[in-house]
Amino acid sequence: MFGQRPRARQTIGSILALAGLLLMIASFVWMQRIPGRQRPVKPQIAQPQPTPKPFVVVVLDPGHGGQDSGAICGGVLEKDLTLDVARRIERLLEADGIATVMTRVGDSYVSLADRAALANRVRDSILISIHFNEDNRPVSTGVETYYAAHQITGGSFAASWLPFLWRALSESPNFESQSLAAFIQGALVARTRALDRGTKAKQFFVISNVTCPAVLVEGGFLTNKEDISKLASEDYREEIAAAVSDGILRYRDAVKQRQSTIAVTNAEQH
Ligand SMILES: [Zn+2]
Repeated sequence: MFGQRPRARQTIGSILALAGLLLMIASFVWMQRIPGRQRPVKPQIAQPQPTPKPFVVVVLDPGHGGQDSGAICGGVLEKDLTLDVARRIERLLEADGIATVMTRVGDSYVSLADRAALANRVRDSILISIHFNEDNRPVSTGVETYYAAHQITGGSFAASWLPFLWRALSESPNFESQSLAAFIQGALVARTRALDRGTKAKQFFVISNVTCPAVLVEGGFLTNKEDISKLASEDYREEIAAAVSDGILRYRDAVKQRQSTIAVTNAEQH
């Protein structure tokens, strides 16, 4: 009980400081919106094809954690499976010389906003969020990989820190995340022989509020008897991890290939 008051005062102090900072950012953003102050709009010229950026770091996001168990089946908790599989992917990628960052390393609660903010602080990254499914129908089975059709745009301090200011990309499909999802889903189905539920676009918070290519993997149903018995096996979880790692490497190769193609095209044009 001792020391409660100074701690409370400190907390109030930090809240006030944060509120002040938010107010400053909000007024800055508002000032930018006053018509008279708007900078002249640049004439629209045809933009060259954007070059896909190679990634250097893989941010691994084991879903749920702490008081948030995720899906539960008997003694099996989604949060334990996600951490187990993420650790396996981490080990496999590092063996291939690819740097990784985990959004949580133990059984702790990390908010979705903090997970996205962490990914946004890591330069030249991709985000892989690991989850397991549940459904009202016990027959539902298989693996699926999600990408967000629209993600926040990079380069804006305000956009990356204040989710409510996020600006959707134009109507063009989210090519990089979509192809990352396709490579991972393909490898998952090939390795696990689980039912292929395909890649799907969905605005999950953690994959839509990051600027880097991002996907969310659902590695099986905790509400399906066969899926849960497979997931209980270490070998099967290792196969899921190896598949995700395979998909990431294939995506990296595809990005490199596309880059060299674009480089050749540009050289030919000059
Ligand atoms: Zn989940």
